[in-house]
Amino acid sequence: MSDTIEKVKCLIIGSGPAGYTAAIYAARANMFPVLYQGMQPGGQLTTTNEVENFPGYPDGITGPAMMVELQKQAQRFGTDVRDGWVTKVDFSGNVHKVWVNDTKEIHCDTVIVSTGASAKYLGLESEQKYLQLGGGVSACAICDGFFYRNQEVAIVGAGDSACEEAHYLSKLCKKVTMLVRRDEFRASQIMQSRVKNTPNIEILYNTDTEEVLGDGQVVTGVRVKNSLTGEVREIPVTGFFVAIGHKPNTEIFKDYLNLDSTGYIINVPDTAKTNVAGVFVCGDAADHVYRQAITAAGTGCMAALDAERYLAAKEADLEVTTPTYN
Ligand code: NDP
Repeated sequence: MSDTIEKVKCLIIGSGPAGYTAAIYAARANMFPVLYQGMQPGGQLTTTNEVENFPGYPDGITGPAMMVELQKQAQRFGTDVRDGWVTKVDFSGNVHKVWVNDTKEIHCDTVIVSTGASAKYLGLESEQKYLQLGGGVSACAICDGFFYRNQEVAIVGAGDSACEEAHYLSKLCKKVTMLVRRDEFRASQIMQSRVKNTPNIEILYNTDTEEVLGDGQVVTGVRVKNSLTGEVREIPVTGFFVAIGHKPNTEIFKDYLNLDSTGYIINVPDTAKTNVAGVFVCGDAADHVYRQAITAAGTGCMAALDAERYLAAKEADLEVTTPTYN
């Protein structure tokens, strides 16, 4: 083994609520976790403005501030939090190998994958501008819908997520305009009928978003174009929701971990275990259903407990099978 290879008992990949919660539990269980933050330290919550649905914050907290708190809590118990991007893994042997920034090699007894998922966006400059400003663009209706109660909003997308989020928004907002790019939904029939039967949801088919409009600080509307007729119109809204899917950040694991058809890691039901012993998963990398900070934190706890039990069983096994010499 070369001198440059580091040995780690518990390596955590990713720094969202799942990763930091796993770190808090692992550190308190003397597993000396090392956590690599990845490209977006703090994860998806850093693009959320106000978090009001995480228990324990009665006055709410901004996403970035909450992630700083979680990081501090993990460090308080000794988590080694590092900058770095895990670029490659090899889970084929007994020792789990991980490479950081294509150079540093780490050998791990346990690995906790908490790489999350990234919301897809349209990619319009105006969309990204108001997203960064926290001025009315969101990819999470459950997180941010509350800020638009009694207002008019638009949502782009036609899958189950878009329907679910449009329906959620319809209960808070005065009006929801759904922007569907084709002449039909992708969503299941039951989800489609739910939005079609909701009086304050208007569905615009064959509709592309050209521009998110605003006053420089906040969203004031959206300019759309009918792809059949070419008609362009402006719809006044204060919130623009994007629900065109998520991409789990699991590409580097695909040769070793079982993934579903959309790339989410498949965990052993009711556990954080993957198909590879000693490799665990938590948070949105394995969850396309709930995708909440609190559920991510919950599964982070599960991953650390499962990792701890795995190590304890392995150590007990070693004591039994390793002969002692006097
Ligand atoms: P999907 O990939 O199923 O749907 C994405 C939608 O966004 C499609 O309608 C697509 O349009 C549209 N879209 C993509 N890119 C653009 C674009 N650039 N402009 C406009 N529209 C665009 O993602 P979901 O997040 O909805 O669902 C992911 C998975 O999770 C699915 O399997 C779904 O069934 C599941 N799910 C289940 C739920 C439930 O059962 N309660 C709830 C939420 C999700 P087009 O159709 O034209 O390609």
